[in-house]
Order: sequence, then C-alpha cells, then structure tokens
Amino acid sequence: MTTPARVRVAPSPTGDPHVGTAYMALFNKAMADTTGGAFILRIEDTDRTRYVADSERQIFDALAWLGLNPDEGPQGHGGPGGPCGPYRQSERLPMYKQAAEDLIAKGKAYRCFCAGDRLDTLRKIQQAEKSKFIGYDGLCRGLKAEEVAANLAAGKPHVVRLKLRQDAEIQTTDLFRGQISFIGAEQQDPVLLKTDGYPTYHLAMAVDDHAMGITHVIRAEEWIPSLPIHFELYRAFGWDAPVFAHMPLLRNKDKSKISKRKNPTSLLWYRDAGFLPEALKNFLGLMGFSLPNDQEIFSYAEFLQNFDLRKVNIGGPIFDLQKLHWLNGEYIRRLDDRELEKRLVQHCRLMIGREAEFADLPEDQLPQETFLKDFEQKRRRQSRVLGALAAEIMTSYEVNPNLLLPIIPLIKERLHTLVEAADYLPMFFTRDFAYTREAFVPKKQTPEGAVAALREVRAILADADFNNPGVKESLDAAFRAKSEALGQKIGPFLGPVRVAITGASVSPPLVESMLVLGKQETLARLDNALKFLG
Ligand code: GLU
Repeated sequence: MTTPARVRVAPSPTGDPHVGTAYMALFNKAMADTTGGAFILRIEDTDRTRYVADSERQIFDALAWLGLNPDEGPQGHGGPGGPCGPYRQSERLPMYKQAAEDLIAKGKAYRCFCAGDRLDTLRKIQQAEKSKFIGYDGLCRGLKAEEVAANLAAGKPHVVRLKLRQDAEIQTTDLFRGQISFIGAEQQDPVLLKTDGYPTYHLAMAVDDHAMGITHVIRAEEWIPSLPIHFELYRAFGWDAPVFAHMPLLRNKDKSKISKRKNPTSLLWYRDAGFLPEALKNFLGLMGFSLPNDQEIFSYAEFLQNFDLRKVNIGGPIFDLQKLHWLNGEYIRRLDDRELEKRLVQHCRLMIGREAEFADLPEDQLPQETFLKDFEQKRRRQSRVLGALAAEIMTSYEVNPNLLLPIIPLIKERLHTLVEAADYLPMFFTRDFAYTREAFVPKKQTPEGAVAALREVRAILADADFNNPGVKESLDAAFRAKSEALGQKIGPFLGPVRVAITGASVSPPLVESMLVLGKQETLARLDNALKFLG
C-alpha cells in the first residue's frame, strides 16, 4: 500500500456532527497521510427530507477542531475546494442523471413506474406468505419501450432501478474480511434515481467515488449488506471497484451500536464538555487499532508511524466514556501551564452566555449508565457556572494577562475535562459566597472551634510576608502548630478557613490559593467570614 491513496469521508448533513464521522475521518486521513495521498470531504446531502442547514458548517468546524482537515472538499466555511469538485452531491445532480441514463441505454438499469401503494401491498403479501424474498419483484424490468414511452408521455412518476443479476452469486471483497458472497436471488433491484430526480446513496456514491478517483472506501460496517449492489453497480458501469474496508461499529458498553441514549454521539458535546481534540483523536485511534506494546497514549504522528490499514482490528470496539475521561485527564496533565491556560481561556470563551443551554435534565432524559449519568449532571452544573462567570473571567484576564497562570498548577492535577475548572476557578474571581453557618462546622469541629480557628489563622497571616519564598512552608508549619495548641486536628482546623477563603469545602490547595489571592484579599475573606458568623 505505498501508492498514494485517495480516500474520503462522506457525512450527510442531517444534524450534529457525529462521533462516527470523526472516527471515519481519522482512519481515512491516516490512510492518506501514510501514503502521501489525499483525504477528501464529500457532503452527501441528497436526502432532502433529513437535511439540516447548519450541519455542513458544523462538520467543517468539528473536523477543524480535531485537526482532521480535508485536502479536498467543498468551498465555503474555509473549505479547500479541489480538482474533483463540486464536493457537495446536491451540486452534482446532472452527473447522476447522466450516469443513470447511461445504464438504461446499456440495458443495465430500467425505469420503474410502480407506485408506493403497489410496493406496500407487495410487501404485505410477501410478509403474509412468509416469503424468503421481501422486496421489489422486478415488474417493470419487462416493460416494452412503447410502454415506457407512453408512461413518460403521461408524466407518470418513476424511479430508475439497477438490474441485479439474479441467477448468480454476487462475489464481493472486503479488505478485512476477505470474500463475502451474496445470493443474487435474495436481492431486490435497488433504486438508483428517486422520483424527485435525486440519486440514492448507492448511485451517488459509486459515481462520485469513481469520478473522484477514490482508491479505498473506508466506511462503517453497516454498509456491508449494500456491497452486492455496489459491486454490481461498478460492473454495470464497467469500472474497477475501489478497495472496500469496513470499519467496525463503535459500540455502547452493552455492545449495541453507539446511540445517543447510551453515549453522547455529537462532537459538539465532546467539545462543550471540555475534552481535548487530541485526546478524543487518540481515543478514536484505539477503537480499531493497537500500537506495539499496547501503548495507549499516542500522538497523531505516532499513530501514523504505526498505521497500516490491513492491521485494523474489527472486533466491535467499546466506546467507554470513562476511559476517555481518564485519557483526557492524562492529556491535560501533559500540557504545559501556558498551553492549559490557553485551552481554559478558549473554553471560557466557548461558554460565554450559554448558561440556559445547560439546565438540569429530568431523570428520564438522563443516560442510564451510572458514570455517564453523574458526568452529565455535573457537566451541566459546571457549564452553567462557567457560562455565568466566563465573561467576567475574560474581562479580568484581558486587564491582567498574568491572572490565570498562577492558578494553573493548583488545578491541573484535578482536571479531567476543561469544564471541570468550574469547580475551582470561581473563588479566584469572586468573594461573594453563598455559604451557610453549617458549612463552617465540618465533622470533628464545633461552632466555637471554627471561630477560634479563623481568628488564629487570621493572626498568623497578618504577620506573614507573602513575598518570602519560604512562605508556604512556614504557613503550613504555623497552622499545624496552632491546631495542635488548640487541640484540633489539622483537617477540622483548616475546614472553616477553606470555606472562608474559597466558599466551598472542596477546593484547590488552600495555602497556595491564599498566595495566589494575595494577603489583602485573603484577610478580607477571613474578616467577611468572621463577620458572617458574628
Ligand atoms: N453518507 C454516508 C453516511 O453518512 C456515507 C457512507 C460512506 O462513507 O460511503 O453514512
């Protein structure tokens, strides 16, 4: 496989960009990149009933976000164009029509005038008779030229169907599975051109893959049943078929095909939840490919070094969000502080003003699986927090570009996704906490003990030099000594202080947070808490 491959991903713009599109794009692009070929984006927008106007732009955005930009593809939305355009099927209609006419002229296809109700009745009869063959019976195959002409003259709607060989076994090949044969008599003559003049997937795909010089069709496993049609179509045209390689379907934990109910499928969901594109790409690479020594974390460059289409693993890969969550945390920890700061800023920008999108979901709309359910509930809350605060964070950040960097080391270890920063960032931007008296009294603490702890800590801090390089260690030691003197354990001793400083009982490391806030702000927060507890 050293000749340059021309490969494509061919999504239909029918809704949110799908994680399956990214998965196919990754393997196709890897094939192009490892052979010095070209990766093409083709928009399959011939199903006008399912067309969603904004979807194409979102596909572009999602591929760009993942760094899976096509070498050729539609123009617009920053698309590259290319020598085999147009790359939108709706702009290629005359070619499909011509191709269908050519097949009719060669006697390989025919016009079928059977109306929908005839086909329905036919199906019902076949079902009632428990027929082995359910589908179109080929009635119009036998129409005489005059009958066709008369029907056309009468303006009768019609489709064009391919004449499938019914007496033969139809031999097909898949790169991973070898030969797959189908019984001709069990196949119905497929529609190529619909009554509205639009092609079906079968015709458009074959015409385009041929015209665009596609060498390898790397697509989802669910298309295997259509292979006999596609091989027959290539035969009918007299064209060489490309190599077909059907990638395994991504599966939910229960092995069913990946579905919205059991796994998020929209790429926008992954971006909004703060997954890093490089982590998602790595994860998708694991769904069908193994690196030597089961190396789990790899860059796209490392993936390419090892990539060989023939080595794709077709056992149904499980899309385990919990694993992606772990992997994303690993990627976050590997970013240097400046880079993580940049990603957080981007994420804040992405969230600005979007709180309303992330209302809590009612129980029956939440995913069933425990990890995903907890994750989704948390993510919604975190997105609201970040959405509400993002504009303020951005304004402060523009005024003081050194604002976020000192916070990064305090939170890096704790993040698995960017949106989880919502649990740690707010305290650095507001001291307006909605705390309760009870919050200051953790286990093994008393209301009086809490006030005493706050006072003692305030006194220690008032004397501390925040600019001294050893200040963290000396504060740690002073707090420990004071808690012992008061007969309190360090946890309950610092509990109320944490609430006073951060507004929460879980926070980034306390002393480091105080140092980031600065002495004045820290003392002010302690004073606020003491006043509140009055
Ligand atoms: N439009 C088809 C889909 O979205 C493309 C399949 C293919 O790659 O040929 O599933």
